[in-house]
Amino acid sequence: MDLETYKIQITGRVQGVGFRPFIYNLAVKNQLVGSVSNNANGVIIFITTSKVKANVFLNSIVKELPKVAIIENHTIEKVSIKKFENFKIIPSKTGLQIQIPITPDFAICDKCIKEINSPTNRRNNYAFTTCIHCGPRYAITKKYPFERQNTTLRNFKMCKNCKAEYKNPSDRRFHSQTNSCLDCGITMELTENSGKICVVSQNQIIDKLVELLHAGNIIALKSTNGYLLCCDANNIIAVSNLRKRKQRYNKPFAVLYPSLKQVKLEFNLSEKEKMDLQSIIRPIVILENTNRFTLNADYIAPNLNQTGVMLPSSTLLQLILQKINKPIIATSGNAHGSPINTTKKEAIQNLTTIADYFLHHNLKIEFPQDDSVIKYVNETKIIIRRSRGLSPNYLNTENLEETKILAMGAHLKSTFTFLPNQHIYVSQYFGNLNNYDVINRFKVTIQKYISLFNTNPKTILIDKHPQYQSSILGKELLKKNTKNVIEIQHHKAHFCSVLAENNLFKINKKVLGVIWDGTGLGDDYKIWGGEFFTYQNRKMERINHFDYFNWLANDKMAKEPRLSLFSLLSNEDRKCIKSKFSKTEFKIYCKLSKNNTLKTASVGRLFDAVASLLNIIDVNTYDAEAPMLLENIAKKCDSNKPIDLLEKENYDKIPSQLIVKKILKLKQKKYTKEHLANSFIYTLALLIIREAKKNNIEIIACSGGVFQNLVLLDYLFQLTSENKIELKINRKLPANDENISFGQLMYYQNIKN
Ligand SMILES: [Zn+2]
Ligand SMILES: [Zn+2]
Repeated sequence: MDLETYKIQITGRVQGVGFRPFIYNLAVKNQLVGSVSNNANGVIIFITTSKVKANVFLNSIVKELPKVAIIENHTIEKVSIKKFENFKIIPSKTGLQIQIPITPDFAICDKCIKEINSPTNRRNNYAFTTCIHCGPRYAITKKYPFERQNTTLRNFKMCKNCKAEYKNPSDRRFHSQTNSCLDCGITMELTENSGKICVVSQNQIIDKLVELLHAGNIIALKSTNGYLLCCDANNIIAVSNLRKRKQRYNKPFAVLYPSLKQVKLEFNLSEKEKMDLQSIIRPIVILENTNRFTLNADYIAPNLNQTGVMLPSSTLLQLILQKINKPIIATSGNAHGSPINTTKKEAIQNLTTIADYFLHHNLKIEFPQDDSVIKYVNETKIIIRRSRGLSPNYLNTENLEETKILAMGAHLKSTFTFLPNQHIYVSQYFGNLNNYDVINRFKVTIQKYISLFNTNPKTILIDKHPQYQSSILGKELLKKNTKNVIEIQHHKAHFCSVLAENNLFKINKKVLGVIWDGTGLGDDYKIWGGEFFTYQNRKMERINHFDYFNWLANDKMAKEPRLSLFSLLSNEDRKCIKSKFSKTEFKIYCKLSKNNTLKTASVGRLFDAVASLLNIIDVNTYDAEAPMLLENIAKKCDSNKPIDLLEKENYDKIPSQLIVKKILKLKQKKYTKEHLANSFIYTLALLIIREAKKNNIEIIACSGGVFQNLVLLDYLFQLTSENKIELKINRKLPANDENISFGQLMYYQNIKN
């Protein structure tokens, strides 16, 4: 047999997932000699063996891959012969220019759950139990590659037992970088709201905490992604106290359930939803309430008829939930509008007026994240918020002509996208950049990425809106070290995000881009938000839009749906909505609309107007409340056929005013609000199809916050399939402004006009 040395290079999510131990064990099983190590591009393996055995080995790597690993690419080549005596794991070199995905956080695995529940196991009740397949990763990453000394766990020295596991190839914690136990690991501290420490041993803290939850207390507890605010979901007084203290009166709370079994008792679950709830991502899954739902929906998610449900993502939460054995509220630990808290200092500063007790621990969180949120439209998964478990990697893109680019995103649902090398990193969701703490978190995270990849951006992409904090910050970065800053129009960025996600840049056919959202500054300095574009051959054109209407009273317009309604009604029709305003207000708005110059095509505001017209809501208490409530009302229409509100109408621009007028007339004829809300959304879906047919286009790509509307998507799936049109939407990224930073990058790389 001819012995040769083969070099196998594997790229993808291969660090922090137990990949090297997996390779080691597979090599030993196959009686191979050689080595495995992390390198800049992933994992590199050398084996000295026959050609046949080398290929057999590569095949079994691909086939037997650990569940949490993802292979993007693999190569095998013959190199000059190397002598090995056995098979070795070689420690990583430092200072590498890393070109691999960052490993996201993984939820606790079944084997670890078994261990914490086994009275004889040395990790019984240990709240930070992890293994090579589970535990925090991105949250605690300080540097590359994913080795213990490069994470915040470096402050914890492994005890004898842990070290032995780490060194033992047949142990499931062989080379587990997050390995720790009660003797050497992370410690917790339970305090009263005054800061006074509750004197209990580490082993009793969770029992005590569960007792406090049972008694109706609100607890700020630090999980491995940041602080959460928790209370008994059955306890109406506790939940309403949490609402009052957080000044979050109506916005839905997520509910953490102890087990899938209990979720099944209260909700109808599809197979896909079951899988997602239990996946390593462990997101919040939005589920329709059923008549078996036992919690008080008015307190959990007022007027929405749905609940955000999740299962424990960390070992700490797992222990608490199985002990309390009933659902608890688990919402991000932050003051109103601020980012999720991560340090004891921040938590005490911001949450003392909210929480009765605090559970701190001493593991530093480097990258704090909220929980990710998903929902299903029939069989299609939609991402509502992309954070823990999902961010920051964006895999599988082509056409990256230039690297070292930082895209700053939008303003309200901020993210940034960094392209330091051939990998795209789309940050987690940060929130509204009007908030000072959010801006700081955003800035600090950008700086951390720059140092993590040891790469300064050469080009910075910003939104066209000069007052977006992300645009301002982008220009500030320019002063320091960058070559150029380029402005990209908001809706064009949205369109590029959906084109890129569906690999449509190279397609020969024309694509219709339907980009609908709340606001975004247009090329004509009007507020766009109801846009139709075409894309072909690297060129993009705006071909139609909703008819412009008055944007009144600046920021108030987005907060008060009644203002959008006021703006969209004629002087005559406004008389019917006088009762929604005080006399003075009504006068002021009449005057304002006479002299108004700022115009908008926003479909988001059209949704607001219809919600107000149907007396669903006049003033929002949280972002996007009106369209969410409207969606819920529209879902309730089951007996009546939807009406095409624009049937037999001739129009060029989409007549926003006419749509509202028609609904008003039908409302006066006593049509139900459920029927009218549903007809409104049905009409929007129809006019997308009409626009495609008018332009002879067979592929539609939709993006923008409006396309998180379940009823609209449902109609679109139905109508496009009836009309043999292909429908493309955002799948890996949310349809809302979270995709702007990625879209900016894709615009810069692909559009040539
Ligand atoms: Zn595990
Ligand atoms: Zn230990």
